Amino acid sequence: TMTLTDSYIKGENYFILKLKAKSENESFARSAVGAFLVPLSPTIEELSDIKTATSEAVTNAIVHAYEGKQDGEITIYVCAKGKEVGIVVEDDGAGIANIEEARQPFFTTRPHEERSGMGFTVMESFMDSVEVENKPTGGTKVTLKKHLGK
Ligand code: ATP
Ligand code: MG
Repeated sequence: TMTLTDSYIKGENYFILKLKAKSENESFARSAVGAFLVPLSPTIEELSDIKTATSEAVTNAIVHAYEGKQDGEITIYVCAKGKEVGIVVEDDGAGIANIEEARQPFFTTRPHEERSGMGFTVMESFMDSVEVENKPTGGTKVTLKKHLGK
């Protein structure tokens, strides 16, 4: 199975996007991921699923990691190896107190806003795998993987 580091070492295709954590950058991130994947001939559904999963992770960084302050930085790594797509969304924000709890459907730490607590559930249903880690240096790293054409 693909690891993102393998993919870089072997010279497979990738791009890295560093964005300020502003809400208007979310749609740019979504479109950039979509445009990059088009040469892999994904189905419309695969493309839409990957874009939506990415945008959930990016939105989480904007609203939770940096508490909607429209400041801070998000790094998105997107790589492809054959039909395998890997996406990493990293922030240097607050981190997640309890990752297992955060991944439960309907769990949100912001119930008074328009949050339904379904972001991780959406990522899990649209991707083959979702890994969530707190980085040793602070902040969160979400790794999304999907094999096209299954
Ligand atoms: P929704 O995605 O439905 O709008 P939500 O963002 O609260 O609601 P999830 O995306 O499932 O739901 O995230 C669950 C919880 O995990 C969040 O409420 C937040 O506490 C925490 N969380 C998620 N991503 C991050 C992150 N990058 N940094 C810090 N906390 C996070
Ligand atoms: Mg969310």
